[in-house]
Amino acid sequence: MTRSAIIAMDGPAGAGKSSVARRLAGALGYTLLDTGALYRAIALACARARVSFSDAAGASAIAEDVVRRGALVIEPGEGSGMLVKLDGADVGDAIRTPEISMGASTVSAHPGVRAALLDLQRDFAKRGLARGVVAEGRDIGTVIFPDADLKIFLTASVERRAERRHSELSERGSQLSLEQTRDEVVARDKQDEGRAIAPLRRAPDAMLVDSSDLDLEAVFEQCLALARERLGDRA
Ligand code: C5P
Repeated sequence: MTRSAIIAMDGPAGAGKSSVARRLAGALGYTLLDTGALYRAIALACARARVSFSDAAGASAIAEDVVRRGALVIEPGEGSGMLVKLDGADVGDAIRTPEISMGASTVSAHPGVRAALLDLQRDFAKRGLARGVVAEGRDIGTVIFPDADLKIFLTASVERRAERRHSELSERGSQLSLEQTRDEVVARDKQDEGRAIAPLRRAPDAMLVDSSDLDLEAVFEQCLALARERLGDRA
């Protein structure tokens, strides 16, 4: 049996990864694997258990525990999205707050947390849920799926990323200013790129797509063309 095709999409916060990956999955009939949601769910579990995000041993124990109990579940969701459940409840909205965004970035720097989530990500791709998987995150092409069929590194200028994130948060009712959003994006970049384990970086064989001067429709078209070129009749 041929394994599912895998498209790895990495890049910093606000580059448009989530929407492009989701649209790409929809267009190709693939399943979306949003790996950031896993780190966010662990941050949420820490917050609920009153464990500090920066407590490496505590956060790692929480991650191991939720995985061992099967309390963290990911499934294909509506409209080519991904559903993430923690202790039986859909936590899709609870994991998208600014506090949990920063918390996810902090907990994701702990090796124990990353190790606990490794098999969950690889198993998801092996489940044969669809013809293929579009996996997005920070270390997909470098660590999780180094043999991915296509690797895309999606990036954009800090200004553009802050604007996108700001309008996304405003739509959800956030009062955060553009300035504050920019600070959050810069802080997360620093943390994600500077960490010792699985830092955000472009795999040498990843195609670079810069979305600074493109709208997301054009970025999607570009990624779809790359997928068709690379995957042939599997795309
Ligand atoms: O992509 P998203 O913004 O949901 O990711 C939240 C945080 O999770 C990121 O800031 C990053 O620190 C972490 N992350 C990671 N590795 C991944 C995906 C996300 O470290 N593969």
